[in-house]
Amino acid sequence: MSLNNIRIVLIGTTHPGNIGSAARAMLTMGLTDLYLVNPAKFPNAQATTMASGADSILANATVVSHLQEAIADCHVVIGTSARSQRTIQWPQMDARECGEFIAEQDYHNKTAIIFGRESSGLSNEELELCQRLVSIPVNPDFSSLNLASAVQVIGYECSVAINHQQGDASHDNVKRQLVTTQEMELFYQHFESTLIELRYLDPEKPRLIMRKIRSIFGRIEPESTELNLLRGILSAAQGRKFLPRNQRNDKKTIN
Ligand code: SAH
Repeated sequence: MSLNNIRIVLIGTTHPGNIGSAARAMLTMGLTDLYLVNPAKFPNAQATTMASGADSILANATVVSHLQEAIADCHVVIGTSARSQRTIQWPQMDARECGEFIAEQDYHNKTAIIFGRESSGLSNEELELCQRLVSIPVNPDFSSLNLASAVQVIGYECSVAINHQQGDASHDNVKRQLVTTQEMELFYQHFESTLIELRYLDPEKPRLIMRKIRSIFGRIEPESTELNLLRGILSAAQGRKFLPRNQRNDKKTIN
């Protein structure tokens, strides 16, 4: 993995100064890819002031209106959270483990690290788009960490872990090439429509089925040949549902 393959995504940042400070934190750690999802004010003079010269990060930042646009081409998506999440069963890491996890990725795998709003962090819907969560361990009696400070700490851990790894030739073994978020989203849509057709899932009362399915496949992090196999099985299940065996042709239904 290289630092160029890490994207920092800031969601709904209210204070433009925090965007500037985050850009400064990024550049000190060698990170350059910044996405902003619905920033309250951007571009903004306060952001430029707080960037203290890291203007190139701000000038090249990509502004989008939905998190999905920011992560569509990413293979690994990691959410940051000040609190440990009890409702969502994603694998959780601390900042150091996160750096090591990212450093271990194949260099093809683009990784997004998502940071939430100053007031309310990330929503459950946004956390659901993440495969893993990272928390920076803090003083339990004063746990409020500024957004840009969080970017600095996570960026530092990534930078240290990647630099260590690059100096260690024993890591040159084969690594797994993962699929992008967009491919995973198509797979989840296919999975859901199959469950609906099989009447396993009632779209009026979906319960938490798809959240659990996401949790399972998020943990597995399939490769693209594995995903093709699973989609083939889904298509076969869809075909079986609607046609008697002797009327079925072999064409696969792809969503
Ligand atoms: N009141 C919010 C705090 C948001 S702080 C809440 O309780 O969630 C703004 C953002 O900074 C968070 O969404 C997260 O991205 C990051 N952040 C703050 N503290 C963090 C911590 N201890 N570990 C990881 N990220 C943290």
